[in-house]
Amino acid sequence: MNQPRSSSRREFLKFAGLGSLVFGAGSARALGADGREASGNSAKRQAKNVIFMVSDGMCFSVLTAAQTYLTRTEKRSSHWMKMYGELPVVRSLCETDSASGIVTDSAAAASCWGIGERIDNGVINITQDGRKPVTLVQKMNAAKKRCGLVTTATATHATPAGFATTVAKRSDQKTIAAQYLERGVDVVLGGGTQYFSDDLVAAYRKAGYGVALNRGQLLADAGKAPLLGLFSKSHIPFEIDRLNSAELKASTPTLSEMTKVALQRLSSAPEGFFLMVEGGRIDHAAHGNDGAAAIREQVAFDEAIATVLAFIDKNPDTLLVITTDHGTGGFNVNGLGNEDFDTSAPSYAESSPAFDRMTGFTSSLELLKAETKGLSPKDFVAAAEKVTGLKFKAEDRSKITSTKTLSEALMKYTSIGWTSNNHTGEMVEFCTHGPGSQLFTPHLRNDQVHANILKATGVA
Ligand SMILES: [Zn+2]
Repeated sequence: MNQPRSSSRREFLKFAGLGSLVFGAGSARALGADGREASGNSAKRQAKNVIFMVSDGMCFSVLTAAQTYLTRTEKRSSHWMKMYGELPVVRSLCETDSASGIVTDSAAAASCWGIGERIDNGVINITQDGRKPVTLVQKMNAAKKRCGLVTTATATHATPAGFATTVAKRSDQKTIAAQYLERGVDVVLGGGTQYFSDDLVAAYRKAGYGVALNRGQLLADAGKAPLLGLFSKSHIPFEIDRLNSAELKASTPTLSEMTKVALQRLSSAPEGFFLMVEGGRIDHAAHGNDGAAAIREQVAFDEAIATVLAFIDKNPDTLLVITTDHGTGGFNVNGLGNEDFDTSAPSYAESSPAFDRMTGFTSSLELLKAETKGLSPKDFVAAAEKVTGLKFKAEDRSKITSTKTLSEALMKYTSIGWTSNNHTGEMVEFCTHGPGSQLFTPHLRNDQVHANILKATGVA
């Protein structure tokens, strides 16, 4: 993003219809001469490629906290926010409801994008009345677009599965693994070797897929053939744990690296491609009320955004979507310190130093839990102090006996608090950039997205 702008970028900016984004969809007539022409061209242009990025379980405050984290630790903006400053972007608030109610799960949420209909939580692309509509990946395949699914969760997790498969239960990940092959998903990258039997991997190889089982194999093979890459038994380890382990750094690719390889594989397709990129574990960190892990996952997702924007700079005929499927945990950065506005001391002055304390954590709560199994409460507190760098007050030490009680105590040390361990029902950030972005209105329902993507690409 810091490179000089290419001529394609200049052309793109000229034709992207910045004015229509400022005035909102359908208001292009209000533009000046240059903007009027540009907007007209933008509306007619079709997207050859679609890149759909999902930060799973991202409360709006996690997006904010990643920006705060990068500003305070690296003195820079996130790529997501930098994009808002530099590129024409359409921003929407998107409702996340499912047929089950006001709080969705990832299966119903991704199915909304997969088939354009709200269905029950836990189900993948089967409607309440038993219909099994054709999925987005199948439609893209029928239009000769190559398709890829990249995630840090298991490759067969609900979000990637929702774009491509049809199964009654999201937990049936073995069926999902087989359906990817049957339905011709060209690139499948993530965790979850446990759901791919030796026979199934052999069938992928027989169908012409390359197979990568560690970071070295993924990065070494620069071929154009379809690719199956599986990098852990279950989900890929949390970014905070990868960063603090030389072994994991060597063996496990980042989301950005997987995204880059997927783009190399897909971009030679004459009719273009559809690629889904998921930061799958922001959600998992938030379910565990683990703020440090959630922010590091969000930053890793943000690195994948940089990779995608570098591709789009050279390939402006690409529609980019960045969003989340729902919030999780009710994450927020809370005011700490003096709350009395009538004293001379400024209020909430403890919030920033508390937030900064969290940036030094060296372990996820998940890994801490695994590594402290069977320890006495006293030894657990000592282990918690080691990975957090905190010195807990005497009144808290007796309460901190597990990762659950630790995360509750962390609010007053780090400023990060939670409303639950569950998904939340808020409207979410939804942004688009590139041809077709003008189709997305400032207020969206999640079941409108599917049709807009078809329209943007001209795929029936
Ligand atoms: Zn989700």
